Amino acid sequence: MSKVLIFTEIYENSYDKSLLEMLTLMDDLNVDPSNIIVGALGDELESKETVLKSIPVSKVVAMKNNDTSNFNPNVLKIIAKNIVEKTNPDKIIIPKTSVGQDLATRLAYCLDQGIVNDCLNIEYNDGEWLGLRPVFGGNYLAKVNINTNVEIYCVRTKIFDEQNSNLISPEIEYFENELEYKTNSHIVDRSQEQSEGLRLEDAEVVVAGGRGLGGPEPFETLEEIAVLLNAAVGASRAVCDAGWKDHSYQIGLTGKDISPNLYFTVGISGASQHMAGCGNSKHIVSIDKNIDANIFKDAEFGAVGDWKNILPGFLDTLKDLGKE
Ligand SMILES: Cc1cc2nc3c(=O)[nH]c(=O)nc-3n(C[C@H](O)[C@H](O)[C@H](O)COP(=O)(O)OP(=O)(O)OC[C@H]3O[C@@H](n4cnc5c(N)ncnc54)[C@H](O)[C@@H]3O)c2cc1C
Repeated sequence: MSKVLIFTEIYENSYDKSLLEMLTLMDDLNVDPSNIIVGALGDELESKETVLKSIPVSKVVAMKNNDTSNFNPNVLKIIAKNIVEKTNPDKIIIPKTSVGQDLATRLAYCLDQGIVNDCLNIEYNDGEWLGLRPVFGGNYLAKVNINTNVEIYCVRTKIFDEQNSNLISPEIEYFENELEYKTNSHIVDRSQEQSEGLRLEDAEVVVAGGRGLGGPEPFETLEEIAVLLNAAVGASRAVCDAGWKDHSYQIGLTGKDISPNLYFTVGISGASQHMAGCGNSKHIVSIDKNIDANIFKDAEFGAVGDWKNILPGFLDTLKDLGKE
């Protein structure tokens, strides 16, 4: 039976909840919970034992006197490598958070082991795991088999439900820190992106606009809708390139990956590069005047027509529903 090491980030009062999604994936793959170890990554972990104890697995490992220098990936890779050497896993799971995606390839390189990046899922096939990842701008899914001793999977977040924590309290093991963290790069500062409302990546509902909106002004209507639906606002690259919205709103291959419960689009054609970032939405509802728009291949519900005729009525209905 494979031994699986899952890395997670530890912050002041909590661990990154993407860990719970990875545990659901482990359930799907029938991994025996006693074969799962969590590798904790963060600073001063010995003083965060309450957080470590709240992780619902049987074993958590961490380094003593950890200093990640502000989650510097070049430092994290050394800590992670050391944890791998101490725990000898067959498989490593790294959630594709902003820290995780920076760490995963560095770790694979310094361990000289194979990696599947950007996994949407992992399938079990005849004793082997196959990492499923989008290729060719999201038009195809490749099933990748790793044939090195250790297999590393960097898995997209917000695809799996969070496992309902079973109330296990883990054994915690601290390893002596024998490492020198030499790095040529230093994180000077971290600042929180100033954005109004919900973060795109976390929102259960996303309302997004495309070039079909014709300019920045109609985004005000989308923002009104977003408030009523408790949604975040997103955009296609065409919109961001035109400067109607900042690039932090961009969804797609070169933008953000989202997997909301509901993705509502207006005037987005659904190019493959856009769908690469939102194709995992549970439900897609779209307005577009072109009945042949690609978005309708993925949309569960669609309204074909000019948004100028459709959106006002939609907004009024939402307002009425809000009053009930
Ligand atoms: C390497 C690479 C990476 C890329 N990465 C991304 C990415 O991350 N994200 C991304 O989004 N794109 C990306 N693109 C660009 C992508 O190929 C498309 O060009 C882009 O997604 C198109 O944006 P759009 O759907 O808003 O515009 P369009 O494709 O122009 O679609 C506009 C839609 O609006 C409809 N419309 C027009 N007027 C109205 C109206 N009045 N009422 C209703 N509907 C109307 C049209 O019928 C059309 O379907 C990338 C491209 C490349 C080459």
